[in-house]
Amino acid sequence: MEENPWFRDAQFAKQIAQKIKELATENGDVKICHVCGTHEWTITHYGLRSLLPPEVEVIAGPGCPVCIIPASEIDEAIQLAQKGITITCFGDVLRVPGSESSLLEAKADGADVRVVYAVSDAIEMAKMEMEKQFVFFAVGFETTAPSTAVEALGKLPEKFSFLVSHRLIPPAMELLLGVDDLQIDGFIAPGHVSTIIGLKPYEVFPKVYRMPTVVGGFEPNDVLMSIYMLMRQISQGKARLENEYPRVVKSEGNPKALELMNRAFKVSPGSWRGIGKLENSALLFRDEFVGLDARVKFDVQVSEGKDVLKGCQCHRVIIGKIKPNQCSMFLKTCTPAKPVGACMVSSEGTCRVWAKATNQNEK
Ligand code: SF4
Repeated sequence: MEENPWFRDAQFAKQIAQKIKELATENGDVKICHVCGTHEWTITHYGLRSLLPPEVEVIAGPGCPVCIIPASEIDEAIQLAQKGITITCFGDVLRVPGSESSLLEAKADGADVRVVYAVSDAIEMAKMEMEKQFVFFAVGFETTAPSTAVEALGKLPEKFSFLVSHRLIPPAMELLLGVDDLQIDGFIAPGHVSTIIGLKPYEVFPKVYRMPTVVGGFEPNDVLMSIYMLMRQISQGKARLENEYPRVVKSEGNPKALELMNRAFKVSPGSWRGIGKLENSALLFRDEFVGLDARVKFDVQVSEGKDVLKGCQCHRVIIGKIKPNQCSMFLKTCTPAKPVGACMVSSEGTCRVWAKATNQNEK
């Protein structure tokens, strides 16, 4: 690896920012949307918005996999825990609010809820405690779904099953194009997800919606370069799909991971917090793996779920309609230490990212 590659070079950042400014004079007001918690972190942490001209706005869409879990699916996990089943999940999921409480509160009330770093950790626990029923709460986008798939297709302890809550990014991007008054002019598609799915699922955006789309990496200059590439398309009056991140993202994605996902899961409608049900946006086990589905195995029944908590604006933050600091609770009654909404819980949540940057700037 070069010592100071272009994607970390401060001089290069200034040059791209200058080129963006020149194109902004031609293009007028432009709104660019990304759908990735890591992109928001890079943009906020490195203060990239301050390098952009006032005509260029970058907004965050539904890119945090924990924030978009609907309350009803947290309720399902709590119901399983209350039945005496051991729930294993990633740490971020613990504090995400369900309709009335969270997994953390269930744990405080005596439920067996354990944090793991990977599904394989949960399986190891289950092997050590064969008498107990274990459920892994499988959350995440296309980046984490293959690791669930590979375990589901392998040999599992008899009393191990999954509460699957995986979601797919392209349908959420498509939804944003239908939100009145959002008026997006270009998408930065997420690099991590794209390493799995490749470029094809994004072709719809330039082809059908005439929406410039660039798959972007996560270094500051990757993001600036992606914005520049979008600005260049806009100034040319073109809509293309471009890959700014070819050092990681291949056009075919990761065929092995896709094959595993396809063997284990079928694409289904899925609910997103504050957004509602989106067609073809979730993964469910194929019929032959229904025995691994904790919802079926333990007859989980919950009602619709309460996604929007009183005063919380997460449902508007998630679709980029407002910025976190436009919520009246931001850093007042809702903080990283005491989050009210899901967007303040996960390190990938937009409110959490903004809160961290605000706190750092105030130090
Ligand atoms: Fe929800 Fe808190 Fe963000 Fe407001 S600041 S939108 S309450 S997470």
